[in-house]
Amino acid sequence: MDEEEVERRRRIAAYRGVWVFIEQNDGEAAKVSWELTGVGRELADQLGVPLSAVIIGSGVERLADLAFSYGADQAYLVDNTVFRQYRTEPFLEVMCRLIDKHKPEVVLMGATGMGRDLAGAVATRVKTGLTADCTSLGIDGKGNLMQTRPAFGGNIMATIMCDRFRPQMATVRPHVMPMPQQRPGRTGTIIHESCPICESSIFTRVLEVITEKGAKDKVDVAGAEFIVSGGRGLMAKENFAMLEELAEELGGVVGGSRSAVDAGWLSQDRQVGQTGKTVRPKIYIACGISGAIQHLVGMQDSDAIIAINRDSDAPIFEVATFGIVGDLFQVVPALTARVREM
Ligand code: FAD
Repeated sequence: MDEEEVERRRRIAAYRGVWVFIEQNDGEAAKVSWELTGVGRELADQLGVPLSAVIIGSGVERLADLAFSYGADQAYLVDNTVFRQYRTEPFLEVMCRLIDKHKPEVVLMGATGMGRDLAGAVATRVKTGLTADCTSLGIDGKGNLMQTRPAFGGNIMATIMCDRFRPQMATVRPHVMPMPQQRPGRTGTIIHESCPICESSIFTRVLEVITEKGAKDKVDVAGAEFIVSGGRGLMAKENFAMLEELAEELGGVVGGSRSAVDAGWLSQDRQVGQTGKTVRPKIYIACGISGAIQHLVGMQDSDAIIAINRDSDAPIFEVATFGIVGDLFQVVPALTARVREM
């Protein structure tokens, strides 16, 4: 082993522990943070190291108890008015200082607007790798993080390792990991960290927060318990009314494949899949969707999948819990009528 290799191993060995960045807005944590705390717990147990939550915000101490209840052993808390709203600069500064001081081996963030922005900036500053949009995480025999994500347009799943640098950083999309069981009353240690930056040294100011028009009426496909999804097999925009009816009976929402979105039959916020939303409903009904890998990665972890397709060889049947080979224009109205009777 040459000197350089010895030095690399020594450097890497100095890093220990799994961290989850707790994303919050106005003191409300994003659900993905707890999903990551769940997977972070499993990784920490496999490595035999503590799981830490990193909480940065203003008036956010109560989130530490929540983090403990979802599995964290300790929480690094940086509570200061500087962090009232997310800005890259101060969050980047504090994350990098914490990493430099405590040297975690794994850092996880949600693949949200905030997480994507912060993770990229942090990885660049601390000179490590970042695997974005992971769909599963594990530990190999040597204690390295195995980060799996779709690659080459979703045609293969690639497992990426970062064995030369630390920390190993990954982002994971909301709803990809299951929500962990909460254990209220579970305790941990809060480590108060000082704020390394003052308002006058930050170049950006938030002047106004403008809520997106119609945001209140927006359909939350990602959080829905029942989704009726349509694909190219629907043939036309007006045929989605049939899916709306079924979704309404179930108390769910309508989603769709990228083909349906590209055809202008649905808005982009309803697209399910690799370049759309990742969903985990109780029931996902796929109507006239073939089951391309890019669609499957966004919905295959649903509790139950009902596929309606007239082609018995359609790949969607490979992930379906129940498959109906038939014409959706007959099956969907019949299903809606049956649900109505119940
Ligand atoms: P098709 O593949 O054309 O399938 C239509 C299905 O309808 C067929 O199986 C057919 O048998 C069935 N059908 C037709 N008529 C009827 C009927 N009357 N009754 C019953 N069944 C009927 N796709 C996504 O969905 N989400 C993504 O996020 C996404 N991201 C992508 C990212 C990249 C980089 C790439 C390259 C592609 C992506 N795609 C995505 C596209 C994906 O590869 C497929 O092209 C798309 O999912 C196909 O949509 P579909 O199943 O609606 O259409």
